[in-house]
Amino acid sequence: MAKTWNAKSYAAASPTSSLTSTMIPRREPTEHDVHIDVLFCGICHSDLHTVRDEWKSVFPTVYPCVPGHEIIGRVTRVGSAVTKFKPGDLAAVGCLVDSDRTCSECQNGLEQFCPNMTLTYNSPDKHLGGVTHGGYSEGIVVDERFVLRVPPKLDLAGAAPLLCAGITTYSPMRHWGVVKGKKVGVVGLGGLGHMAVKLAHALGAHVVVFTTSPNKKDDALRLGADEVVISRHSDEMKKQTGSFDFILDAVSADHDINAYINLLRRDGTLTLVGAPEKPLEVTAFSLIFGRRSLAGSPIGSIDETQEMLDFCGIHNITADVEVIPVQQVNEAYDRLLKSDVKYRFSIDMASLKSERAA
Ligand code: NAP
Ligand code: ZN
Repeated sequence: MAKTWNAKSYAAASPTSSLTSTMIPRREPTEHDVHIDVLFCGICHSDLHTVRDEWKSVFPTVYPCVPGHEIIGRVTRVGSAVTKFKPGDLAAVGCLVDSDRTCSECQNGLEQFCPNMTLTYNSPDKHLGGVTHGGYSEGIVVDERFVLRVPPKLDLAGAAPLLCAGITTYSPMRHWGVVKGKKVGVVGLGGLGHMAVKLAHALGAHVVVFTTSPNKKDDALRLGADEVVISRHSDEMKKQTGSFDFILDAVSADHDINAYINLLRRDGTLTLVGAPEKPLEVTAFSLIFGRRSLAGSPIGSIDETQEMLDFCGIHNITADVEVIPVQQVNEAYDRLLKSDVKYRFSIDMASLKSERAA
C-alpha cells in the first residue's frame, strides 16, 4: 500500500449534504509525481452536477466527494524522476490526472478519449483504491505528465478556470475550425460560455452570444461578442436563422436545442459541451434540412491544454472571476443554479488554512 498523508479538503458526504471541511488521504509523491500546494481552484458546474449525483446514469458519484478540476498551485516537492518541475514552480492541473498511455487515443495524444483515463475526481484511484479527489483541497499529488505549466504574468485566480472552462471551449473551436471569417454562436454566458466568447474573439471569429439573462448583455459585448441575442425573444432569434458556421452550447440545464440547430447554415455544426442532467430532444428535420450536424466534445488533451494556456498567455486571456473563500462554496453552488455568476467562482485556497478539519 502506498504511503499517504492527510490533506485538508472540502467534501460532500452525500448528494444532499453541503460541502464541509474534512481530511482525505493523498499518496506520498512517487518518483514521477509532483506535490502541489493548491492556491486557487475554480468552481465548474460539473462539480455541482457530480456532488449532487446528477450524472448518476453515466458517472455515479462515490462519497465523500472532493470536487475541483481547475487547479493552480505551487510545487512543493517532486519525485526523483521528475524533470519538468521543481519546488517553487507554478503548476496547473485540469480534469485529467492519468490515462492508460497505451491505447490508440493515448498514443495519438488524445488522452481525453482514453477508455481508462483517470479524472481528477470521482475516478478509480490506481494508487490508493477508492476514488480520486479534486482541488477543493490544500494539496494534490499528480504525475508530472498530467501537470501543466502556467504562462508567466497571468492572474492566478483568473487562470485557474482555464484548466476546464478554457480547454473545454478551446478544443472544439479548434477542431471545428473557428477562425477569422466564421460566424460563431455561444449559448449560455456562464463559466464555459464566457471563456468561449473570449477565445472565439481572439481566434478572429464573429461572435454572437445567446443568453437568457438580459442583464449580461453589456458584459457579453465587453468580453468580445459582436452581437448579443436574448434567447427568450423569438423575433431576435428568427433574425439569426440559417447563418452560423458553428454554435457551442454551454448550457447546464434543460433547454430547446432545436431552436439553435435551426440557426446553423448548411453543413453547420452545433456542439454540446453543456451536459444537462436530462436528455435533450432533437427534431429530425432541424438536422435534415441543411445537412446540419449535432456533436459533443469533452475537455481536451494534455498537449492541447498546454497549447491553450500558452495561447492565453500570449493574448493575456483569463477568466473573469469572483474570488471566494472556501467557506462560501455552498452559497456559490446556489448562485450557479440561478445563473448568477460573473463569470466563474475561483476559490482562494488560503482560506482553507484557517479551517480546522472535522
Ligand atoms: P455555469 O457557469 O452555471 O453556466 C451555465 C449557463 O447556462 C448559465 O450561466 C446560463 O447562461 C445558462 N443556463 C442555465 N440554466 C439555463 C436554462 N434553464 N435555460 C437556458 N440557459 C440556461 O456552468 P458551466 O460551468 O459553464 O458549465 C456549463 C455546462 O457544461 C455544465 O453542464 C457542465 O457540467 C458542462 N461541462 C462540460 C464539459 C465537457 O467536457 N463537455 C466540461 C466542463 C463543463 P445565461 O444566463 O447566459 O442564459
Ligand atoms: Zn469543469
